[in-house]
Amino acid sequence: MSNKAKIDIRTLSLAQLKEAFVAAGEKAFRGQQVYEWLWKKSCTSFAGMKNISAENRAWLDEQYVINTIEIVDKQISKDGTIKSGFTLHDGFMVEGVLIPADDRMTACVSSQVGCSLTCKFCATGKMNRERNLSAGEIYDQVVAIKNWAQTHYGKPLTNIVFMGMGEPLLNYANVLAGIDKITSQEGLGMAADRITVSTAGIAKMIQKLADDKVRFNLALSLHAANDLKRNMIMPINESNSLAAVGAALKYFHQHTKKRVTFEYIAFKDFNEGIQDAKELLAFCKQFPAKVNVIEYNPTGDGAFEKADANKIDAFCAYLEKNGVVATVRRSRGKDIDAACGQLANKKHEDALLEQ
Ligand code: SAH
Repeated sequence: MSNKAKIDIRTLSLAQLKEAFVAAGEKAFRGQQVYEWLWKKSCTSFAGMKNISAENRAWLDEQYVINTIEIVDKQISKDGTIKSGFTLHDGFMVEGVLIPADDRMTACVSSQVGCSLTCKFCATGKMNRERNLSAGEIYDQVVAIKNWAQTHYGKPLTNIVFMGMGEPLLNYANVLAGIDKITSQEGLGMAADRITVSTAGIAKMIQKLADDKVRFNLALSLHAANDLKRNMIMPINESNSLAAVGAALKYFHQHTKKRVTFEYIAFKDFNEGIQDAKELLAFCKQFPAKVNVIEYNPTGDGAFEKADANKIDAFCAYLEKNGVVATVRRSRGKDIDAACGQLANKKHEDALLEQ
């Protein structure tokens, strides 16, 4: 059987894996053992599953494949940020980043190959969305980055943000399944409140997060609290207006009691004036929220510029004065294109240049 026809074993739940063993005339606990190898121990081959008999390993090999990721081209920034490409089993590539700080080690992971949302300021937005990542591929990025935190800094991974390539809420099932493995005792056992999923604002899926009673945090890439302006930079706003996203966030807060974080890139002469701050304030007042003002990272086409520091300070001061916590987030890893919105694999960029 070619690898293509085999099932990716990590798409099976624990119950399904146990059932498969029982159906093959084996004991269910063998399924549990294999599950532990796959997740807790991140074993990448059936041959490496030491307590599984040779006969069972051969059977597994016939039926299933383990689609793992491969680390390629790891780069370390002057500020300690580490970025790497990950090649997927079918040759596609995504990127992940480790952002070290005094009090935390944060993994920034991708959820899709490319992205369908075409946000005008984002490098990934210039790629096509090729496919969703599987839960296993999401999990593997976290494991790889967790290892970097340990080997480079001797520290455990403390936080995970879904702010790499892709729109996590358009890969809803796999992102939630990946987080389930990251948080479960059969996986990495990390706390859900250390995980943040960042979305460009898919109202229906934000409501679904509330219905599914998720325990991780939600960040929303707002960047403008005015539909006309937001339509100009984020086409998703045309079908998910600020009113629709606001209603969904209200619902999310009512059901989860969580405070939402807004990400707001300050663009020069576009969204960093006091009138913009007023609109943002009105939007924030609908529910408990805080604002992270993000420095714009150039993505090459020169269409946007970063706002002046004094404008950003005045913008934040206005929000703070009116009772909204606003923090300026300085970029990390810019020298290796690891900062927000700069993730797009080089091969793709080269192809674009040739066009
Ligand atoms: N699709 C998700 C997650 C990926 S983007 C989302 O939209 O939230 C992660 C964050 O980086 C988002 O807030 C995004 O708006 C921001 N970002 C994108 N391009 C950027 C750039 N050039 N400079 C700074 N931040 C950027």
